[in-house]
Amino acid sequence: MISKKILTSVATSVALASISFTTIGQVIPEVGSQIQITQAATSAINDYINNNNIQPVSITNQEGTFSYWNGYENGVGKPEGVVIHETATPGATAQNEATYFNREWSNIYTYVHAFVDNTQILNIKNTDYTVWGAGPTANAKFIQVELCEVSSTDAFARSVANQAYYTASKLVQYNLPFTPGTTVLSHNDVSKRWGETTHTDPVGYFAKWGYSMDQFYDLVGKYYNQLKGNTNSGSTNNNSGNTNTNTNSNSITVNNPNGNYVPLVSMDGDSTRFTVNKVMNRALANKSPWYTDKIRVVDGVTYRRVATNEWVDQSYVI
Ligand SMILES: [Zn+2]
Repeated sequence: MISKKILTSVATSVALASISFTTIGQVIPEVGSQIQITQAATSAINDYINNNNIQPVSITNQEGTFSYWNGYENGVGKPEGVVIHETATPGATAQNEATYFNREWSNIYTYVHAFVDNTQILNIKNTDYTVWGAGPTANAKFIQVELCEVSSTDAFARSVANQAYYTASKLVQYNLPFTPGTTVLSHNDVSKRWGETTHTDPVGYFAKWGYSMDQFYDLVGKYYNQLKGNTNSGSTNNNSGNTNTNTNSNSITVNNPNGNYVPLVSMDGDSTRFTVNKVMNRALANKSPWYTDKIRVVDGVTYRRVATNEWVDQSYVI
């Protein structure tokens, strides 16, 4: 029942997304001077998380038995992102999985950095070093986190909140931009891109709950921006290696050449009439990367959303 409803709304949002991506650079006002374009994938699970104020748990570090200490292809402490997995083992908790892999990794040649369920984020390998989760190419690049299978909607919502939070916190820890499909990707994406594994997780398990990677990305983006925090302290992020300055991307970098920080606005009203207000107590650091899930044009100015009701003028995007 849930999945039918979601499939319908996903189809709608995909259609909207493709419109916004192709036309945003050349928006032509139709009636009046306002057009609202929404590109976020609607999700009953993400709504459930928001409506019930579900908060992710904190990360538990419980170093396991994996005894290889190899750096990534860019070096120790230099992962390039996070691969999203799912265990395909119904009912096994994060602790169950950790116990099993700590015992069996040398026989089954598999190990990951973390297991996540609805109550725990269990990190079992220092993420400065590589593991064996998704074939040699991806292993040399990425942190790997497994989602445990649960049996209720509430547990699923809590588990993906935890996995998204873990993912976002690792991006922030290693000063990586959030670029869906590049710095965060599914094992399915890895299999398609490098052909070294045939696994398609977590796509099938997500679909059982009416969930998708795009919806998961929205959740990662929410935590990513929350963790980075809006700041006017001037702390700049070294964005080395990120060449993604495509304005149609969900990953944007902002800069204000005429000031010490990038201002934010909030909006009141609805799609018939938005009022734009300056946010006085928060701003974004210059040259800082952000995840954005919505584009809105008000009075001819394009804004990118970076928090529930905080928007940045597109002209600050570099
Ligand atoms: Zn996998």
